[in-house]
Amino acid sequence: MINTEVYNSIIEELKLTNTTLVAVSKTKPATDIEALYALGQRDFGENYVQELVEKQALLPKDIRWHFIGHLQSNKVKYIAPFVHLIHGADSFNLLKEINKQAIKQNRVIDCLLQIHIADEETKFGFDEQELEQLFSTDLSTLTNIRLVGMMGMASFSEDMNKVKNEFKKLKSLFDKYAAITIPNCQLSFISMGMSGDYKLAIQQGSTMVRIGSLLFGSR
Ligand SMILES: *Cc1c(COP(=O)(O)O)cnc(C)c1O
Repeated sequence: MINTEVYNSIIEELKLTNTTLVAVSKTKPATDIEALYALGQRDFGENYVQELVEKQALLPKDIRWHFIGHLQSNKVKYIAPFVHLIHGADSFNLLKEINKQAIKQNRVIDCLLQIHIADEETKFGFDEQELEQLFSTDLSTLTNIRLVGMMGMASFSEDMNKVKNEFKKLKSLFDKYAAITIPNCQLSFISMGMSGDYKLAIQQGSTMVRIGSLLFGSR
């Protein structure tokens, strides 16, 4: 079941700041996605490859599918034919594999660099040093990838000040690297903010929020 009222109010809210809503439909049935689709929603986020592949086959072809989970290299091939944006590009090796599969599909795949901003060890992503290293390598070999922004997940914490500082960190890293011009890298999106912290994320410069439970109910 989707919450139409909440959806409409979030859409109104996001319009004011030109923020993209990615509706996170993981674990939810295709019928819920169809219900949001009927309201005009086109960007949906999933974080399990098999679930995404099954839903993509079933649902309208103009849906823009965002892969927001941790992506294993050996699974890139399954989503490469259709994925709209990969949010969790978190290593050079993964970028190489995405590039390889994109070449096979004769397409260019847009990716966000996932940045490790939380304290928790369990969250994936580049740290500052790894990011520097990445940008010192020759990215022009990744002909079929476009780096279009950054993504981060804040700590799972009640302490909103802590969360705010983590968002600030992502924004400042984004600003630093958005200024760099290399051929297949034009950072313009910051994917940060979920059901519990999206308002704060927008205040801190997010341009893309990933919202699940507020729209679809708890999982
Ligand atoms: C599940 C998930 C979300 C959505 O979380 P909610 O709290 O349900 O809004 C956002 N981003 C990622 C990476 C997720 O895995």
